[in-house]
Amino acid sequence: MVFQGLADRLQQTFSKLKRKGKLTEADVKEAMREVRLALLEADVNFKIVKQFIDKVKERAVGQEVLNSLTPGQQVIKLVNEELTELMGGTQSKLAISSSPPTIIMMVGLQGAGKTTTSGKLANHLKKQNRRPLLVACDIYRPAAIKQLQVLGEQLDIPVFNMGDKNSPVNIAKAAVEHAKHHGNDYVIIDTAGRLHIDEKLMDELVAVRDNVSPDEILLVVDAMTGQDAVNVAESFNEQLSLSGVVLTKLDGDTRGGAALSVKSVTGCPIKFAGMGEKLDALEPFHPDRMASRILGMGDVLSLIEKAQTNIDEEKAKELEKKMRNADFTFDDFLDQMEQVRNMGPLDQVLGMMPGANKIKGLKNMQVDEKQLTHVEAIIKSMTKEEKQKPEIINASRRKRIAAGSGTQVQEVNRLLKQFSDMKKMMKQFTGSQKGKGKKKFKL
Ligand code: GDP
Repeated sequence: MVFQGLADRLQQTFSKLKRKGKLTEADVKEAMREVRLALLEADVNFKIVKQFIDKVKERAVGQEVLNSLTPGQQVIKLVNEELTELMGGTQSKLAISSSPPTIIMMVGLQGAGKTTTSGKLANHLKKQNRRPLLVACDIYRPAAIKQLQVLGEQLDIPVFNMGDKNSPVNIAKAAVEHAKHHGNDYVIIDTAGRLHIDEKLMDELVAVRDNVSPDEILLVVDAMTGQDAVNVAESFNEQLSLSGVVLTKLDGDTRGGAALSVKSVTGCPIKFAGMGEKLDALEPFHPDRMASRILGMGDVLSLIEKAQTNIDEEKAKELEKKMRNADFTFDDFLDQMEQVRNMGPLDQVLGMMPGANKIKGLKNMQVDEKQLTHVEAIIKSMTKEEKQKPEIINASRRKRIAAGSGTQVQEVNRLLKQFSDMKKMMKQFTGSQKGKGKKKFKL
């Protein structure tokens, strides 16, 4: 799960804080010491950590917080606000040119995920009824042009290429002309990468930039490289004046340092996050939602958006309503399981659910197909009434369900427990999602 380590540590710190009715300055200081360590361990730039802690401390020891009825929650609220601020405050959207095509230049080191991200971005735009054109400007890596063509075929998106005998500047200029004549409203230029930043690479990128005046210059960096990613971003920004960053591989075992530092260090907003190798695994980056995920408050909005692109609209609306009211039954659970499976790896989907990482057994869950089949079998062995009112499932019913589904009673118990925990969490969360802006925090 994204930021798992950091999320765990912060949540531990805050649950301690919340258990105390009244807070003293010393309590806040101790909590901030723990937050500081958690951030440093997550590989956040140390200067940023210091600024962050100073800011939160300053606000948190104010009388308003200490004297409030729920001081613990007030501190969490502050951390949430400052984390959001750290990652850029509000979502930074992709540019759109008033005289199409909008030109997006993708830059980055080799292996960061630039070509894949170009494809993902084109796919993202296509889903919004745009007509992107992908442009193969990496004339050095032998397989790069082919890779982009294959992506284009998979996505049914046109790819412009002139082989490897023309200069990237000429290819980029010709591609923009091509787009104008073929009604493409976005041009996504996949430029060459190198293993390290070098002068020749930068000169070439500057030349392409100066010749096509892109509306966006997006740097693709690998989040797993932590502070190195931030350093790379700083160098590229100095030479090219980036308009944004795409962080890839946030689905991996990332500690979060890059995501939390890049904006503050470079001033460049994170515009998208790559969450997997699949071509639909690209998410617009929302600082507030990411902060919520880190603090275990879930990200119901992203979950709903994911549902809306992968599930038909009627079903998505139903899902939204049920999640908000926390009144879904095992029947809905089964029904949604199929749909949810289409939304991506289950641990990622669960990571967006409020409080999901606090539920024992769901944490670090590696969901395999066999497990899902068991869950399905257990639910199917319930009577209609049991599915609607799981609280009536007593010991003898549990035995019957286990026998009927060919599973163990322990598995039935676990599922029932998870289901009731999940509903509890959702109920709590309903309170905090209503009334935008004035959020109530319940962890
Ligand atoms: P480029 O050299 O920068 O063009 O990198 P590629 O696009 O060829 O990607 C390098 C590798 O990273 C490929 O194996 C991609 O599948 C993988 N990759 C790219 N983005 C992501 C991501 O968001 N998550 C994961 N897990 N892998 C990714």
